[in-house]
Amino acid sequence: MENADDFYFEVLRQVRMDRWSAGRVVLAGDAAWCATPISGIGTTLAIVGAYVLAGELSKSTDPSEGFAAYERIMRPFVEEGQSVPKIMPRLLNPHSRIGVAMLRGALRVIDQPVVKGAAMKLFVRDSQKLELPEYGSPTGKTSSTP
Ligand SMILES: Cc1cc2nc3c(=O)[nH]c(=O)nc-3n(C[C@H](O)[C@H](O)[C@H](O)COP(=O)(O)OP(=O)(O)OC[C@H]3O[C@@H](n4cnc5c(N)ncnc54)[C@H](O)[C@@H]3O)c2cc1C
Repeated sequence: MENADDFYFEVLRQVRMDRWSAGRVVLAGDAAWCATPISGIGTTLAIVGAYVLAGELSKSTDPSEGFAAYERIMRPFVEEGQSVPKIMPRLLNPHSRIGVAMLRGALRVIDQPVVKGAAMKLFVRDSQKLELPEYGSPTGKTSSTP
């Protein structure tokens, strides 16, 4: 880090907006609801959001109807994805040598097969929990759920 000539540094922030569309403009992915890398679900939310947005627009005659349905379906997934325990950023970015040692120790413990299963259940989001609508394709074939 000290020797790099292109070192980049930025804070981690979540994007929380009251609404994701205005008129004919709509936001998706990080632009609408960035959950930060700590959430571990930003890519899933971005892809699922694009799928739902396209599907709902294809069903609606008016974009505002499609945007409202997209927001109704996506809000609960996004809120769950953004619900990172407040302690996590501090735990994952320790500010002292002791903190770094504790993080490494904790990761070593979590990596043990016995603990790993329980830790995964606690911290990793299960994308299979998302129940997504199925949308017909423009060719008339039913699309499969991602
Ligand atoms: C360090 C890091 C680690 C991460 N780890 C994970 C992880 O493990 N798991 C996970 O699920 N998610 C992770 N994420 C989050 C994930 O990368 C994002 O949530 C996801 O990429 C969001 O997709 P997006 O399409 O909304 O935005 P982006 O992937 O950011 O895509 C936006 C695109 O728009 C382009 N763009 C910007 N402005 C303009 C413009 N004016 N004109 C044209 N193009 C423009 C950008 O170049 C970019 O290609 C991580 C993110 C970071 C930064």
